[in-house]
Amino acid sequence: MEDVRNHERLLSAAGLAVPLSILQRSDTPNFVGLREEAPRDALEREEGRLLCGACGNRITTESACIVVNGSHDHIFRNPGGLVFHVGCFSDAGGCLVVGVFTEEYTWFPGYAWCYVLCAGCQAHLGWRYERGDDGFFGLILDRLVRR
Ligand SMILES: [Zn+2]
Repeated sequence: MEDVRNHERLLSAAGLAVPLSILQRSDTPNFVGLREEAPRDALEREEGRLLCGACGNRITTESACIVVNGSHDHIFRNPGGLVFHVGCFSDAGGCLVVGVFTEEYTWFPGYAWCYVLCAGCQAHLGWRYERGDDGFFGLILDRLVRR
């Protein structure tokens, strides 16, 4: 499918941009070089930033995504019945970790948790989980925006 689209785009670009007289010349240099080359990788790295949805403070990046208990993201329900879509991150420099760690009602057995707030606006963005020297951030994905 991708090949067909590229081929059509190439034909279309050639038809619009290049006079027939040039197409027919056998010495036209690098005709196939009309193919577009988007700097896609660089663009995607730039777009991997995750910001606080409330204030735009830079919270973390997609490169900090990690897998915990078999998945990056998890759906959890707290004792109050609220449902959270939580993503796991190795680092979240734009956050404040507040409160006292507890294992009560933890969603990751063996890990104690603490609240995580945006350092910019204090919005609740998720939780910090720690077990000995091991730790990660569980962030509420719909409270972050990707840019
Ligand atoms: Zn914020």
